[in-house]
Parts: sequence; structure tokens; C-alpha cells
Amino acid sequence: MNANSTDSTDSTSDTSTTDSSAKTPVTLLGLGDMGIALGRAWLAAGHPLTVWNRTPEKAGPLTAEGARAVATPAEAVAAASGPVVLCLLDDASVSETLEGVDLRGKDVVNLTTNTPAEGRRRAAWASERGARFLDGGIMAVPPMIGIPETGGYVFYSGDRALLEQHRETLEVPAGVTFVGEDAGHAALHDIALLSAMTGMFAGITHAFALVEPEKDLDRARFAGLLAEWLGIMSGSAQDLAAQLESGDYEEGVVSNLAMMATANETFVATAREQSVDPRLLVPFIDVMRQRVDQGYGDEGLAGTVGLIRSE
Ligand code: NDP
Repeated sequence: MNANSTDSTDSTSDTSTTDSSAKTPVTLLGLGDMGIALGRAWLAAGHPLTVWNRTPEKAGPLTAEGARAVATPAEAVAAASGPVVLCLLDDASVSETLEGVDLRGKDVVNLTTNTPAEGRRRAAWASERGARFLDGGIMAVPPMIGIPETGGYVFYSGDRALLEQHRETLEVPAGVTFVGEDAGHAALHDIALLSAMTGMFAGITHAFALVEPEKDLDRARFAGLLAEWLGIMSGSAQDLAAQLESGDYEEGVVSNLAMMATANETFVATAREQSVDPRLLVPFIDVMRQRVDQGYGDEGLAGTVGLIRSE
């Protein structure tokens, strides 16, 4: 059931239809790779779609599938009776696009990647202009959009009522994961996960650099072993959470920091043997060594969290 069809608090339902099966109209600003994928998903699900893009020609693929393209962001927003979705390059492009646009009574859903502070500022900015606001962080790449089996989803934070009213519409392109009314929390979750992923990519890069000279080594088999190992070890995130939560950084420790710091020396020595610059590993190794030198060799990794925070 469409939440929109039963919610009497809907301030934007000026064009709502008497046909209860009608899909909520969507307004989409930004037709880059991600915007096009989002638009296609809504069109395929039968949602009327109005689009705008700075470079108008990029609307072609969506208008061919039934979208209505308009000439200006102001025109797009003025006609909106459902969510106004922004999928632009960055926060500055959101400012530029919505400069002077009347947002009163509108529901703005910003899927543009931003920082937590930008998300909070944008929420206040939207509120001052009379709009409800949700910020989103997309945990998917364009080919995953509109295909639930891929597991793609979007972190949302901000106005819970907006989310609940448009949940069914927002679930069309990707899963919905609400992470709170602090509008900065979608970006915080998004960037925290992507930052962890960056560390993983660094580790994978280093691992392949180590094995690269071995011409008789089966890379595909190695990749399988590596991926399986990373999957197993990713459970350490829960151990870390438990230690940070309890404040007992020795809780459940099976590999203590002193042991790991010594093993790290073997990692660096192996890198040198294999003619690999260990610079992708060294910053984290240094933090672990610093914690051991402070006398916390019996702990797990939780104490390193405080070491890299500046307050
Ligand atoms: P693209 O680079 O393909 O598209 C960028 C879009 O922003 C285009 O529509 C572009 O318009 C518009 N734009 C850029 N600058 C301005 C401006 N100053 N004023 C108005 N419009 C502007 O990016 P994506 O579509 O891939 O990404 C869009 C958002 O989605 C980004 O925030 C990205 O981080 C996020 N995202 C993307 C993922 C991906 O894999 N692609 C994955 C997860 C999130 P024009 O066509 O005129 O240049």
C-alpha cells in the first residue's frame, strides 16, 4: 500500500488523484550516471517522472521512456507534488541548482554525496525555506539500481514523516535504511562504510603487489582466498563495537595488540623481500605500535580508535 495514499498530513498532495493505484509522481534533478539509473527505475515502476539536468540533452534516454523534461529547476520544483530528488555531483552543485527556487511545501530528498555537516546545514537551509528534508547516501552503483537482488540500498536521515510518507516510492530504486532524524547521519554512515572500504582496497592492493612477481601463482585462486579471508575477518567489527561499548578494551581479545605489532614487522619485512613499498600499511602499523608503546599491548584494536581522534 502506498503510504502517501492514506496520510492526511501530506502537505504536497495538491495534484493527488482519486485513483488510489496511481503512483506518486517523482521530480528528479540531476541526470548523471546515477540520476539516469534512478529515473529508469521509477519509470519502470510506473511513477510519473519530471526531470531536469544542467545539460538538457542528457534527459533524452528518460524522455524516450516517458519522463517529462523541463527547462529549469524552478519549473521542476514548482510542478512537484511528490518527492523532489536531487542527485547532483556535490553539495556546491545543489546550492547552485536550487538558488532562488521556491521550496515552500516541498519534500526534498537529497541523494547527492556530502559530508555530515553539509547534510545538517542543508536540512536547516531547507527548513528555513519551508521544505521538509531527507538526506541520503547511496550504497550502490548505477547497475544495482532498481534490482533488489543486488542488495543496494540508501541510508536516509532527517525528516522521518517525509520518509514514511514516501517510503514506497523511495524503495523503488534501492532499499531504504533510515538512520535517524539527525540529517547528518546518512552521510556519516555512508562515508564511514566507504572509508572502511578504502582501507580494504588498500589491503587488497598491497596483497596483490606482494604476489605479483610470482608468475606461477594463480591470481584467480588467490583472489578467492583473499575475499574469503576478508569476509571471515570482517567479524572483528562486532568485537570492536563490543569493546568500545563496554569500555573494556581487553574484552574477548584473541589476538592482542602486542602480538599484532610484532607480526606487523614480518609484514613489512615481507614487503621489502617482495620489492613492495609498504606505505599503504605503515600508517596503521604506526598507530598500533604507538598504543603498544603506551603500555596497552594486551588490548585489541579499540584503543587505536581514540589515538586517531583529535578530541
Ligand atoms: P555524474 O558525474 O555522472 O553526474 C553529475 C551530475 O551533477 C550531472 O547531472 C551534472 O550535470 C550535475 N552537476 C554537476 N555540477 C553541477 C552544477 N554546478 N550545477 C548543476 N548540476 C551539476 O555523477 P553520478 O550521477 O554518478 O553521481 C551523482 C551523485 O550520486 C554524486 O553525489 C555521487 O557521489 C553519488 N553516487 C554515485 C555513485 C556512482 O557509482 N555513480 C554511487 C553512489 C553515490 P551535467 O550533466 O550538466 O554535467
